[in-house]
Amino acid sequence: MLDCAIIGGGPAGLTAGLYATRGGLKEVVMYEMGLPGGQITQSSEIENYPGVFREEPPLTGMELMEPWPAQCMHFGLKHEMKEVQRVRKEGDHFTVELGTESVEAKTVIVCTGSTPKRAGFKGEEEFFGRGVSTCATCDGFFYKDKEVAVLGGGDTALEEALYLANICSKVYVIHRRDSFRAAPPTVERVKRNEKIEFILNATVEEAFGDATGLQGVKIAFTDSREPMELKVPGLFVFVGNNVNNKVLQQEDGSFLCEVNEQGQVVVDLNMRTSLPGLFAAGDLRIEAPKQVVCAAGDGAIAGMQALHYIQEHELI
Ligand code: FAD
Ligand code: NAP
Repeated sequence: MLDCAIIGGGPAGLTAGLYATRGGLKEVVMYEMGLPGGQITQSSEIENYPGVFREEPPLTGMELMEPWPAQCMHFGLKHEMKEVQRVRKEGDHFTVELGTESVEAKTVIVCTGSTPKRAGFKGEEEFFGRGVSTCATCDGFFYKDKEVAVLGGGDTALEEALYLANICSKVYVIHRRDSFRAAPPTVERVKRNEKIEFILNATVEEAFGDATGLQGVKIAFTDSREPMELKVPGLFVFVGNNVNNKVLQQEDGSFLCEVNEQGQVVVDLNMRTSLPGLFAAGDLRIEAPKQVVCAAGDGAIAGMQALHYIQEHELI
């Protein structure tokens, strides 16, 4: 039986593994269905993780995360590249379902983070991966010296618009209001960038194209302006995230522990969920600030608490 099963290998999961193993737990496995690192590896720049700032060129999310797994594995954390289907609790232990097999664990830390939302316009699915993207670092280069559009007005949309402006000839930022959710310094940087043009009080109604991919988007305005077509081969959609709580959903549709109406996992300051022995850390918890430094901090707390739980219940 595992001392601790960690689900997800982003900043929260890796840090949980580091603290659980350095604290003395022996059998700690992190189930991460992809390469460890989490969603920040898709970010073209990170400047708010303390101690690793680089101005030019900016530090990428991939560079930030690159050394983390080796450090965590050094202290005994094991990584299995598997997708967890579901977590159940039976008696005093947990069962982690991994498709055809399952493992038992004394404690579980869920760190499955969040994934980009779809905006919901016509053609979004049809052209996804063929012009519509949610990752500028992955796909931006396909549009070198071309015009692209970004949908959204949060930190991700504006930071990624700045990144795309380094590659593309022009970046249109389409946003449904005329004020922004993004941090004011980021908004100012975008406003100063001559390659970026705002299309405000506007929504994407439809993406259109042909077998070769996206050719443009139809834009409607929330004020009295007439709808327009914008001919762009690339549209980057950054309209927020959904929490990945599927592993906690039971066969009857209920959740293994308490979640709020947005599906975020309710935890206390020790990352304890409503179910003893089950912890949640990072972007999927209630009131998550959705920052790498906070996800890592949550992971550290959860790792220490898993150790504490095992000692307190004399499960060692
Ligand atoms: P995640 O990073 O989402 O990691 C969750 C991991 O769980 C993923 O690797 C996923 O593959 C895995 N997983 C999910 N379900 C399963 C399953 N069933 N089985 C196995 N594995 C599973 N934050 C900052 O602090 N500064 C920034 O500048 C910044 N920029 C960002 C830019 C972009 C483009 C994005 C998308 C995010 C940015 N963020 C930034 C936010 C930051 O990336 C997140 O807050 C942070 O990554 C959350 O960490 P996490 O470990 O909770 O989850
Ligand atoms: P977000 O803050 O939720 O912003 C989403 C944006 O998309 C908002 O501007 C929203 O408009 C718009 N939107 C939502 N649904 C839409 C739809 N269907 N059609 C059109 N527009 C839509 O999401 P995010 O930018 O991805 O950021 C997520 C979290 O990560 C935030 O907490 C953010 O601070 C954090 N983050 C931080 C950094 C950083 O610290 N540097 C970088 C990236 C992300 P409205 O504004 O009108 O609601």
